[in-house]
Amino acid sequence: MRAIDRKAGPLARKLVAARAGLEQAFWRRSGIGRYREAGRHPRRLTPAEIAQLKEAIGELQQSGDDYAQAIFEAGTVLVEAGWLNAKTLLEIETGYDVVPPYVLAQLRGYAKQFAFLAISRERKALEASLTSSVMEGESPRLAARRISATFAEGYHVFNRAGEITRRTPTKVWSTLVARTELSRAANMGNLALFKEAQVENVSWMAADGPNTCPECSEADGETVRIGSAFPFVDVESPPAHPNCVCVLTPADEDLGNFTAPDATQQAARTRADAALAAWEGS
Ligand SMILES: [Zn+2]
Repeated sequence: MRAIDRKAGPLARKLVAARAGLEQAFWRRSGIGRYREAGRHPRRLTPAEIAQLKEAIGELQQSGDDYAQAIFEAGTVLVEAGWLNAKTLLEIETGYDVVPPYVLAQLRGYAKQFAFLAISRERKALEASLTSSVMEGESPRLAARRISATFAEGYHVFNRAGEITRRTPTKVWSTLVARTELSRAANMGNLALFKEAQVENVSWMAADGPNTCPECSEADGETVRIGSAFPFVDVESPPAHPNCVCVLTPADEDLGNFTAPDATQQAARTRADAALAAWEGS
């Protein structure tokens, strides 16, 4: 999983850039810049201004596509690396040279779903900020300041009651997302190859060392039929949680033992590393 950590940098930058794009679009559409100019003579927000702000916040949802695209593009390379990695692990010499399109379609679905969730949360945080402004009868200038501060805080995590429970600085959040989504992409490539090669059983393998996920230690070494959810973690493939660094290994008896790191596994990782390095250099 070392290789995946190394890739967190470029994707994190992409995600930060995608988010900056969303924010720019928001400020442009909201017209709040104009309210700031009028700040010398504060007056309360008019119903028309409130409607305009609500509309701008609503449109945030549509800009989420840039965000999904950034995740998808970076993920595609990792799906391919995961696919090659698994192919080498099974010592398949010929065939299986191209990742089937349905795997990339699945990745795109994940990226969109993820972007949708992230943007929905930010929209909720901005709506809450606007509601406070209206209830307290704030001037347009104060409302603009409050909304701007909400953006600057970073990402918002809500509880079931719809209250903000955590604020994560944008940079920290981007790195977490990059790690998790890259892990997902690499594991999707792995799993897809195992399925195509008709592997029947797979084992969950938590990473050894300081990066081991405490959440996954119980699932470590568990074996299921491919495509079934693992006990304890309830997913068919890592990641089981943000920052998860687990992997799957084939567990059919006639395939040999893949749990101990041996020369074959080492070769597979070296090859995946090479694929990643080539992408990083491009
Ligand atoms: Zn894990």
